[in-house]
Amino acid sequence: MEFRDLKKQYQVLKKDIDNAVQSLCENAQFIGGAPVKELESALADYVGVKHCITCANGTDALSLAAMAWGIGPGDAVFVPDFTYFASGEIVAFEGATPIFVDVCKDTYNIDPDKLEIAISQVKKEGKLKPKAVIAVDLFGLPADFDRISTICRNNDLLLLEDGAQGFGGSLNEKRACSFGDISTTSFFPAKPLGCYGDGGAVFTNNDEWADLIRSYAVHGKGSSKYDNIRVGVNSRLDSIQAAILGVKFKAFKDYELKDVNKVADKYTEFLTAGGAKEKGLTPPVVHEGFYSSWAQYTIQLPQSVDREKLQNELKAQGIPTMIYYIKPMHCQGAFDGTRSSIADCPVTENICKYVLSLPLDPYKTEEDVRFVTQSLLKQL
Ligand SMILES: *Cc1c(COP(=O)(O)O)cnc(C)c1O
Repeated sequence: MEFRDLKKQYQVLKKDIDNAVQSLCENAQFIGGAPVKELESALADYVGVKHCITCANGTDALSLAAMAWGIGPGDAVFVPDFTYFASGEIVAFEGATPIFVDVCKDTYNIDPDKLEIAISQVKKEGKLKPKAVIAVDLFGLPADFDRISTICRNNDLLLLEDGAQGFGGSLNEKRACSFGDISTTSFFPAKPLGCYGDGGAVFTNNDEWADLIRSYAVHGKGSSKYDNIRVGVNSRLDSIQAAILGVKFKAFKDYELKDVNKVADKYTEFLTAGGAKEKGLTPPVVHEGFYSSWAQYTIQLPQSVDREKLQNELKAQGIPTMIYYIKPMHCQGAFDGTRSSIADCPVTENICKYVLSLPLDPYKTEEDVRFVTQSLLKQL
């Protein structure tokens, strides 16, 4: 069994993907052009925002947002402690200080109460200027944007939604990647909507920021690529990736998002029926009003379980599992000795020891899920 079966997906979409790639090669428009424009417009429509700007990857998408906002030295940016490194990395890369905030034990997303505490603490210290919050839609589930937006408004903070894992999710019928003042996503192959290499996108309703981001992404271009009015980067989505995404986005909308939700629901159903609760295993939780795009199906194991041994036993039965994430952000060596290494995040420290992500994609069958859950529960 594959952890995320991209080979199976290709077999299903092969004809359309091969055609898209072939016609792109024949036209030899490898940078920009119709596939990129059409994709940006389709993604903006779907998400429900005015502008979509594609770029080279999800990390650049976050960096471009930070550049547009002029985030830099002296600024504090609040980031969940439980996330992929890039969410905090880009803050430090711009010279600002990521302040890591604990997450909710049930949703894995940034805890609004802890966010308020962290903001007032930084204000009290008086050394850094609170500038923005990066809320991550971890494992596909939108963060608690009702509360987070209010906190940002009350504290005059910009909200950046890191929807790298969240594309396709929603909250009260509003789609992920529309909650931030700027929102971003990633098309890394294993993300909910992945391409065949690296890719990313930025979303915003703000015309001025959209213009700035389009400029920063192409060497700070002014009226043309050869008129450079600021220092930027080279961060574009390849046309070939846009063409592939055109095909994959259709499948995503038509059935993949629904199917991956069915697979996730089956996991929860079989785990619960198999006595998960009695065994101390916690399936992921999706609260009322939320819809996940299920980048990962991540459980918490009972504290008595030897996770590594369990992983090896499952692996021996052909079941791959992953640990997302092994370490709290504030404990990453890159932040040693900095203000970012100071954080009060007991929930993150605890769940890092017990999380386990199970094989998941829209092409898994009920039999696959039965096999994984039975093998797992037998070991507990
Ligand atoms: C994958 C990921 C990113 C970075 O995306 P890339 O396309 O790999 O650069 C950023 N944030 C989160 C939460 C991610 O999962």
